[in-house]
Amino acid sequence: MTKLDDIVSLCKRRGFIFQGSDVYGGFAGTWDYGPLGTMLKRNIMNTWWHYWVDAREDMYGVDAAIIMNPKTWVASGHTATFADPLVECLECHGRFRADKIADGITESVTTEEFHKINPKCPTCGKQNWGPIRKFNMMFQTHVGPIVDATSVAYLRPETAQGIFTNYKNVVDTIYPSLPFGIAQQGKAFRNEISPRDFVFRSREFEQMEIEYFVQPDKWQENFDKLLENCHDFFEREMGLPKEKIHDYEVPASDRAHYSDRTIDIEFDFPIGKEELMGIAYRTDFDLQNITRESGKSMEYRDKITGESFTPHVIEPSFGVERLIMAVLSSAYTEEELDGSTRTVLKLPANLAPYKFCVSPLLKNKPELVKKAKEVYEQLRAKYTYVTWDDSGNIGKRYRKQDEIGTPKCVVIDFDTLEDGTVTVRDRDTAEQIRLNPDEL
Ligand code: ATP
Repeated sequence: MTKLDDIVSLCKRRGFIFQGSDVYGGFAGTWDYGPLGTMLKRNIMNTWWHYWVDAREDMYGVDAAIIMNPKTWVASGHTATFADPLVECLECHGRFRADKIADGITESVTTEEFHKINPKCPTCGKQNWGPIRKFNMMFQTHVGPIVDATSVAYLRPETAQGIFTNYKNVVDTIYPSLPFGIAQQGKAFRNEISPRDFVFRSREFEQMEIEYFVQPDKWQENFDKLLENCHDFFEREMGLPKEKIHDYEVPASDRAHYSDRTIDIEFDFPIGKEELMGIAYRTDFDLQNITRESGKSMEYRDKITGESFTPHVIEPSFGVERLIMAVLSSAYTEEELDGSTRTVLKLPANLAPYKFCVSPLLKNKPELVKKAKEVYEQLRAKYTYVTWDDSGNIGKRYRKQDEIGTPKCVVIDFDTLEDGTVTVRDRDTAEQIRLNPDEL
């Protein structure tokens, strides 16, 4: 299986992902995207948006503020219950999320249960634990010039509430028919007790969420359809292998406070089988909470029957970072080629940062360089994401493009000057064919 270290190292070496604030020694739980990582991330997010919003007639987009009225988090239950179990090792004073220390410990573990299991401290190996405390994961800030209890606000811990709070605005301006969905992409912030495993558990990350509003008695069929769409999206658009994707029916005792059914879609990551995304049936929990906290009705009036009711909601919730990790670990391959080992990112073409790399066989032959520039400009006009490389020798260029996942390398050589054809080398098979540039 692909090692996480290999992927982290490739990401750094080739400018995909760097540690956040690297120059100052880093900042735990934060990551910065370099030129290629930014392209990959945008390709993933744009593909998602196209698949879930643009290509459908029942989805609408919003882009809400990150800092919301704090009543939002009272209504949603986050102020009271968005907390992880924190435990401190009394020997080395390391602090950990209790349910991540050993198998069989759940998020609702009590001090007594934890002490009975008495796992070893992951840092010092001793078994002397303090009590379990609930640690709220929302980042606090103050809004305006006065720093006191009245100015407290939070960075959103999920994008979902920016959708729920705009549900009425969308209904009153777009008049959508049920069922319909509202989608949002954007940053979310969680003060994770132990950020770890590369970008998998970060303190600042990006979510892509949909709240899908349905007739209460139609929730099951809509849940099933959306779940099917999720699988289709992962396999067809993200190129994830079917056999690595698993549905986990979350038992009632482990479900979030708002959910009547949750399926976590898990993926075989290099760190093991872990949650890639979740799809939850949130009933009318959120809209009822908003009604209570705001005093405004969230009812929907059916255009045909005239009946008014509060819709129920299915929420597919995706995390961009985990999807990037799934995509990278599926694409990362080390294999023998011409007597040596090559590293190649077999990314689907729609996600690859560059679609083509163009280069002259030799950089010191002006006639080759001139012709290569022409082909480069021609391809850029058509595909935009085309790179130029005339460094090193041709073998080295291929290896570099393999590592960053460029599907095709186009080389202009002396035959090009004769018959106009170019060499096109395929990333995955390393096979070379000759084509006219118009045929690319
Ligand atoms: P976990 O149990 O792993 O902490 P969660 O169940 O709290 O995750 P949700 O609240 O359901 O996660 O968030 C929806 C999605 O957002 C997750 O499936 C994941 O893809 C992403 N996500 C959540 N927390 C993080 C994080 N700290 N870093 C990166 N992505 C995250």
